[in-house]
Amino acid sequence: MGLGDLVRKMSWEFWTKQLDEEELVESGGYEEYSSGRAGMNGNGPSRLVDPLDDPVPGVGTYEDFNTIDWVREKSKDRDRHREIANKSRQSTVAQLLSLGDAFSGWLLMLLVGLMAGALAAGIDIAAHWLTDMKDGVCLTGFWFNHEHCCWMSNETFEDRDRCPEWQSWAELITGTSQGAFAYIMNYLMYIFWALLFSLLAVTLVRAFAPYACGSGIPEIKTILSGFIIRGYLGKWTLIIKTITLVLAVSSGLSLGKEGPLVHVACCCANILCHLFTKYRKNEAKRREVLSAAAAVGVSVAFGAPIGGVLFSLEEVSYYFPLKTLWRSFFAALVAAFTLRSINPFGNSRLVLFYVEFHAPWHLVELGPFILLGIFGGLWGAMFIRANIAWCRIRKTTRLGHYPVIEVLAVAALTALLAFPNSYTRMSGSELISELFNDCSLLDSSQLCGYKQPTNTSETGVGNSLADRPAGAPLYTALWQLALALIFKMLITVITFGMKVPSGLFIPSMAVGAIAGRLLGVGMEQLAYYHHDWLIFKGWCSPGADCITPGLYAMVGAAACLGGATRMTVSLVVIMFELTGGLEYIVPLMAATMTSKWVADAFGREGIYEAHIRLNGYPFLEPKEEFEHSSLAVDVMRPRRSDPALAVLTQDGMTVGEVETLVETTHYSGFPVVISQESQRLVGFVFRRDLLISIDNARKRQEGVVSASKVVFTDHASSQPPDAPPPLRLRGIMDLSPFTVTDLTPMDITVDIFRKLGLRQCLVTHNGRLLGIITKKDILKHMAQMANRDPDSILFN
Ligand code: ATP
Repeated sequence: MGLGDLVRKMSWEFWTKQLDEEELVESGGYEEYSSGRAGMNGNGPSRLVDPLDDPVPGVGTYEDFNTIDWVREKSKDRDRHREIANKSRQSTVAQLLSLGDAFSGWLLMLLVGLMAGALAAGIDIAAHWLTDMKDGVCLTGFWFNHEHCCWMSNETFEDRDRCPEWQSWAELITGTSQGAFAYIMNYLMYIFWALLFSLLAVTLVRAFAPYACGSGIPEIKTILSGFIIRGYLGKWTLIIKTITLVLAVSSGLSLGKEGPLVHVACCCANILCHLFTKYRKNEAKRREVLSAAAAVGVSVAFGAPIGGVLFSLEEVSYYFPLKTLWRSFFAALVAAFTLRSINPFGNSRLVLFYVEFHAPWHLVELGPFILLGIFGGLWGAMFIRANIAWCRIRKTTRLGHYPVIEVLAVAALTALLAFPNSYTRMSGSELISELFNDCSLLDSSQLCGYKQPTNTSETGVGNSLADRPAGAPLYTALWQLALALIFKMLITVITFGMKVPSGLFIPSMAVGAIAGRLLGVGMEQLAYYHHDWLIFKGWCSPGADCITPGLYAMVGAAACLGGATRMTVSLVVIMFELTGGLEYIVPLMAATMTSKWVADAFGREGIYEAHIRLNGYPFLEPKEEFEHSSLAVDVMRPRRSDPALAVLTQDGMTVGEVETLVETTHYSGFPVVISQESQRLVGFVFRRDLLISIDNARKRQEGVVSASKVVFTDHASSQPPDAPPPLRLRGIMDLSPFTVTDLTPMDITVDIFRKLGLRQCLVTHNGRLLGIITKKDILKHMAQMANRDPDSILFN
């Protein structure tokens, strides 16, 4: 095969496989699955790949919405490795190919990092431009954002932000930037752009990729835990999510791009996996790449590569071997490097909210930091409850039928209320930057209680500050901040979960940063006016600048994000990478731990787990303890009222009988027993492997007819001389299926499922096969135990 042929084949395979993945989206599948996916258990022949395309039994992929079996996938990979190792001993070319195979994982990581980094940079640049478009336009080129426009300006002007080339809409339309009329004109244009961007975002999502909505993290967690949701990480989702993310962020809705960027990075990884057979054909291997991609997502969202790796480990991944850790590290590094090279913020800094505080923190301040932790925990718990209640209303009432109207209404409300308040008018990340700012270094900020003296040294550390107590600008700013806090808290509840890409990181951090800044300014005022109080004695001398409100904002942001997501280690690392504030680990740790404890007191689920449960995704939570005393016999199927266990016998059935069994049942696999009478277990066969093998045999193997015997043994049993040749299927049988006895406690069984990533486990009694337990059976049982509807588990 020539190089041209190879490239053609590769691209043909790439697109056809993608098409297969995209089927569901293209057929508007989201609605179908969320409304119970009648008939979509994947057992219809239409869902099967032509066996000729996939002739080797045992390598077939899974059906849509089914559970993967990690043990089987890993053993498939081991077999593949063995085969490559054997071949590589035979020739140099095979040796080189084996080297290429070993290297392919790293190459894939490199490609994922490059692609995700470039996309994130593009999203940043476009979002920045469209966000500024709500305020005005650059006369030298409409494609310049405000900063870029003024930076390009040749004229001199006093305020760096107010160059003549940048004109507000009022200036452009009415010719004046002052007065009530100009204000109203700017207000109207702000609402107009917000509505236009949000309308475009929701329409594109609805029309082309329904999976592109939301943050995507609950679904990615579910996929990484071993479920198949076709199209969720496909090319249409990637394209539409990238475009609509820019629009949604620019519309000014209370949402962030960080969670969706994790989804975007996972889409990149999934698409690139199709270039490598090793990853295309093995669901477990592909999940390793997706785990690394989640790290890449956070790396490019915040410029926090290490935090990204830890986020993937702590929050989204299910199976995270050391190799995945190193690969995530490498991919996050490449992505961060790509982003840094493109430099979308134009400031040569990778971090989003660089801080440099003038004063160190004091031990006494741990008290207020813990208070912020308590606030973060309370807010997190309340937010989760309120948001889930709102999402449930959306699901169960007619509101859910009008997503476009809902998005437009929320966008209009947000723009209407946000514009008059300068803190809510600015974008979420600008607001957080402003709140993290250090007063002594930024004397123009209204949020500082006193003005910095002109003779302050460069660092502004510890010298006498101008004796200017809090004045009217500060009080106005505080009022505005308090209103912004209430607004953000309420609007985020109804925004998260709408049918547009929406992340929670920035809104949560904004709520915490506002609360933190308010507390910080309060403490600053106390220290200023009451420096003789016991708590300030010894470390805060009169007139000294000992409190840093920006630090309080930073701690508050971490606490609120921790309360909502229950992240701890990764959150602290993200926060110090995000801000460059390595010295503030202890305050950040104290606040995040407190917020987790407080939020956990109201329910152990973080926002992502709560959404997983709300949507009924089949996710076996690794953090949750199984606290009931049930036994395997209580959970296994069949129940008394169910039809008997459908089994195959090792050499007693004909091809016709096996085909009838497969056609009349919908199970994903069948245990193989010695005989119907003895019910002694021999192995387990997957439905799909069985179908592919029989189909292949009928097409290719001479003499296989319905009356042929299906034989799972390795020794030839005696056959009548005129009987058709048997169909030997031992090769597709799993000879070591996992079994437990009927009296095995369920907590042990659940542990086995979690740790090994099992799909099913067989139940025996005195060596006789009694029943089967699948992962979904366990989930249904857990739902029942928690007094929830077991049928709420989707995809069953
Ligand atoms: P998934 O869709 O992820 O494969 P599932 O639980 O739906 O998971 P199925 O194999 O379709 O998997 O099983 C559906 C139900 O039937 C489960 O409750 C399972 O315990 C039961 N079951 C599975 N195999 C058999 C069988 N051979 N005979 C009888 N019942 C079975």
